Amino acid sequence: MAFNSGESRGPSSGGPSSGGSRERRPMRREGGGKFFKGKKKHCRFCADGTSVDYKNVALLRTFTTERAKIMPRRSTGNCARHQRQLTTAVRRARVLALIPFSND
Ligand SMILES: [Zn+2]
Repeated sequence: MAFNSGESRGPSSGGPSSGGSRERRPMRREGGGKFFKGKKKHCRFCADGTSVDYKNVALLRTFTTERAKIMPRRSTGNCARHQRQLTTAVRRARVLALIPFSND
């Protein structure tokens, strides 16, 4: 009884792999997790209960850089809603020439 299990042993057609040594690095961020220490980063407007006012130039200036660019949300800590209001307010204030478009 010959168990002829069809073992197909083909010639390993493994050519020389093209020398593209692509090193795959694991994208792991070290030190993640709890970053805030008790201090909850939240929107200033939500905390104070104030609303964005395009006439409040002093306020708008705190959310713009030296070059009169609107600071990103990750640095202001605003919530999406207020950041949106802020952007609109800054644009409006620019049109009214309360704050400059660019400070170059
Ligand atoms: Zn908010």
